[in-house]
This record gives sequence, structure tokens and C-alpha cells, in this order.
Amino acid sequence: MNKSATKSNQTSLRVAIVGGGAAGVFTAWALQQVQGATITVDLWEANNRIGGNTWSWPYPYNGTTYNLDAGAQFFFANPQPAYVGLLKSLGLFDQDVSSYPAGICLWDTDQNARTLFVPSKIENFFDGTLKLSDIPSLLQFFAFLLQAETLDKSGNWSLPMSQWLQNVQWVTQDFKDKVLTPFLYQFVSLPLSRIGESSALYALTYFVRNVTGWPGQGVVPPDAGDVFTLYQSASIGLDGILGQVLVGTPNTTVRLSSPVAAVSYDPNTQQPGLTVNGGYLPYDVVILTCDPQTASKLITAGGSTAQPSAPAYLQNIEYAPLPIVLQAPQSNYMPTDPGSWQAANTVVSNNAGSVAFSGYFGVLRPPAGSSLVPAFKSWSNPPISSPPPDTLLFHSHNVLYPTTTSIAARDALQSLQGATNVYFAGGWNTWFDSQEAALRSAINVVGAMINPFNLEPGPYIAPWLEESGGKRGTTVSRFIERLVSRMPDKLAQPVRDGLRPALAKL
Ligand SMILES: Cc1cc2nc3c(=O)[nH]c(=O)nc-3n(C[C@H](O)[C@H](O)[C@H](O)COP(=O)(O)OP(=O)(O)OC[C@H]3O[C@@H](n4cnc5c(N)ncnc54)[C@H](O)[C@@H]3O)c2cc1C
Repeated sequence: MNKSATKSNQTSLRVAIVGGGAAGVFTAWALQQVQGATITVDLWEANNRIGGNTWSWPYPYNGTTYNLDAGAQFFFANPQPAYVGLLKSLGLFDQDVSSYPAGICLWDTDQNARTLFVPSKIENFFDGTLKLSDIPSLLQFFAFLLQAETLDKSGNWSLPMSQWLQNVQWVTQDFKDKVLTPFLYQFVSLPLSRIGESSALYALTYFVRNVTGWPGQGVVPPDAGDVFTLYQSASIGLDGILGQVLVGTPNTTVRLSSPVAAVSYDPNTQQPGLTVNGGYLPYDVVILTCDPQTASKLITAGGSTAQPSAPAYLQNIEYAPLPIVLQAPQSNYMPTDPGSWQAANTVVSNNAGSVAFSGYFGVLRPPAGSSLVPAFKSWSNPPISSPPPDTLLFHSHNVLYPTTTSIAARDALQSLQGATNVYFAGGWNTWFDSQEAALRSAINVVGAMINPFNLEPGPYIAPWLEESGGKRGTTVSRFIERLVSRMPDKLAQPVRDGLRPALAKL
């Protein structure tokens, strides 16, 4: 790591951030939290808007305009405590965030039946929504989750999903192949045939922490009556939230429609710099928050003078375009039985090797009159190649393919942070690609700048979980126990007859 460019006792620092997605905005915000220097920031964004993979899109329906998040959309309290804490500290959580009950459906088109169903409300376990036929897979799912918790605690990112699944007990091979593997698509975005290549810990950690919380952190229970409680922006959308975060960064200048062409390092001035809008601009620090493939191209275009060792790692972090379709009033990618629809739906054909994920806005928006808003967001593998009928919006984001190779490369990259005063942040850069990871990566980079630049960490984000009085972490078994203890007496007799002995066995 070249620290020769480090300047001590500096009173002003000029920082360039490349990329105006969540990580770029959070980095600008985190830079304004530190003290010890006056930090001015140029935030360079190729697009004509900030947000990157967050993009909110207005949808007029029945006289009301709904803001639909066309890219990133949901967050949960337990896996995203820093993000929720930030929104709380800015007052955005109380002003703009709504919560909804969330469940899971996996639909197998080969069998024309659901093969995994977790209802969104506890009452759905006994009002006929959950069927007796759902119980065997639900029990296997709980068994899987118990073992996923152990993996999450192990911190082992290098174990491939295929290998981990082999050792999962109390679950049939058929369930592993036809249910668990496609269920994981929503977390890894890989083709069905490649989900086994994913880092098992990466694939599972978000879902596990939804139940258990982060190690050492308190847990926020779901809203009363919910199985899971999901949060989303009620009106301004996730990109609107990023816009509000930027309001708190007065020393940041946002420069839209300005694709950076190269990043380089001048050994004479010991400063990195950007080639942008046909000119060259030197800075004290450059933070790349674009995707890793673009970061590699920018370094190479700059003659590999900045961060010369990084492209070897960046190129191994696999990224792929993810075409996304918003549809109404119907969707080609939802279960054929509307009674099975949940907030999160996976539709699989194991025979054809295809899998799709669909978010259903209807259960996640205030109803339009007496009906739910018929709007759906879907992506699939093989990727959707052309917009189907009833398409409202067809667009594409780039997405991380979290194979063990990708994850090893991104972890190895961390040792290069700050070389030639160039840093890397991004949703891809730490933990599980999310608003939470984008925020944590920003905080990590700013934390790594504290010593070299004689900065002082300023007020830190107050973790929301402490504020909300969460006392301790929980476990998957406690979660299941609590869920079950709230329902048996109300369950229909045949469901109860099947559930109790099976649970005792589990
Ligand atoms: C379909 C989808 C759904 C998701 N759902 C969720 C969800 O529900 N909840 C959640 O928490 N997370 C979700 N995520 C993940 C989340 O979107 C990301 O973790 C996060 O938004 C990534 O932010 P980022 O800033 O790292 O990257 P990006 O959002 O990709 O931002 C990178 C920015 O860099 C810009 N850029 C690229 N090249 C250049 C250049 N040469 N010069 C200047 N600028 C450049 C791009 O235009 C872009 O704006 C989802 C992601 C996808 C793709």
C-alpha cells in the first residue's frame, strides 16, 4: 500500500466519488460526518440521475399515482440495522417508511403447484390459506434454516453452495434440488445451473439475519400478527431517500451526466485524478463506487498508474446485466394461482432450467379502492430478452454474481484499500449486496481514511436496534418456537394433527 501520498495535518481534502448510486451517496454522507479537515466532494455520476440500482417510477392507477421501486425496493429491520439507523437519524424512517407483512411462495410450473409457502400473517396458518400439503416442505424449510444459521455464524465465505447443501440434514435431495436451490435465486441472481457455485454464506446470510439479527445486536420482532415484516419507502422511493441523504452533505457537488473515463495517479504530485468531460482533475482521494468491472476499466484506461494491482481482483468479481420488467395488470412471472401470491414469489421450471423472481406490489401498497394494485416486478434466468405484453417499464441493472471466486476476489481487494489514495466502495464490496452493504462499505472506506489523513470519526450512526430497545439476538429455533406457540390452538384439526408430531420430530 503506497502511503507516500498521505498528507498529515491537512486542513482541506478534495475527494472525488465515482458513481452516484447508494454507495456513492452514503460515502458523501459519511465523509461529512468526520472531523479534522474540511472535506469537499465531487460526486461524479454517468447517468442523468442519482440512484444507480435504486430507481423509483411513478405508476398512475385508479386516480392515484404510486411510486414503484423498479430496482432495489425492500428492506428489513434485522438484516439492515445500519440503514434503518441512518433513516431514523435523518427522520426519514418515521416520515416515509411503511411496513407490510411478507411471506414467501415458490411455484413449480412443472407440477403447476406451490412447493414452498410461508404465509405473511400468523392467522394464515389457521384460516385455510396454509394447506396441509404445505406442511412437509415448511418443516424441511425450517430444518434448512436451522443449519443455515450455523453457517452464518461460521464466517466461512469460501464454501460453495453445492458442497454445503450436500451436508444439509433432515431434508430430501428432491427438496434441495427443486425447492431450496430455486428459492436461493432471489439472493444470488445466478442461473439455476450455477447456484451451486455461489458462496453458501453469501446466499443465506441475509435471510438468516432477518430472523436472528446481526451478531451481538438486538432483534426487532415482526409487527403484531406478521410472520415477517418488510419495510419500503411509502412515497419518495429508495432513490428519493438517497436524495434526502444528499441534502445533509452541503460540501458535496453532484455532477450528473458525467461519465468518468479514467482514473490515474501522478507520482510527481502524489495525487490520484480523474479524466472526465474531456479534462483531467487531480484530487487528494478518489473513491470508486461504480461496479467492479467498470472500476477495472477506469484503472486500465488510466495506464494502471492508480491501484495497479486491483484489476486482477476486480475482473474476477463477476457482474451481469439483469433485465427487469414491471408489468400490469397481469404478470407472466407469477404463480398461476393468485391465492398463492406473496410479496416475494419465485417461479421455477426445473425441467426447463428456468427461474424467475417476482415482487407483487399489490400486497405492498395501500389498496386502490377495494382492490390491490395489480403491478409486478420480475427478473429471470434465462434473462427476459424482450418486454412481454402489459409491460409498463423494461430496464436493466447490473448485478453481482456471488460465486466463491467473486467473493474471494472482493475480500482480497480489501488489502489494497487506499493504495495511491484510491478506495473502493459499493453494495458488492462487503457482506450481502444491499442498501446496508452499500452503507457499511462507505463507512468502512471513510474509517480507513481516518489515520492516513489525521481525521477524527465524528458522530456515528446510532444503531436503531439500541434505540428501539431490542435486548438480545435470537435464534432460528426461538423464532420457530415463537411462531408455533402463537398458533396451534387455532389451527384447523387436520393441520394440527400433522404439524405437532412433525415438529416434535424436528
Ligand atoms: C434488481 C435489484 C433489486 C434489488 N433489491 C434490493 C432490495 O430490495 N433491497 C436492498 O437493500 N438492495 C437491493 N438491491 C441491491 C442494491 O440495489 C444495491 O446494493 C445498491 O443499490 C448498490 O449501490 P451501489 O452504489 O454500490 O451500486 P449502483 O447502484 O450500481 O451505483 C453505481 C453507480 O455508478 C455509476 N457509474 C458507473 N460507471 C460510471 C462512470 N464511469 N462514471 C460515473 N459514474 C458511473 C452508475 O451509473 C451508478 O449510478 C437490488 C439490486 C438489484 C439489481
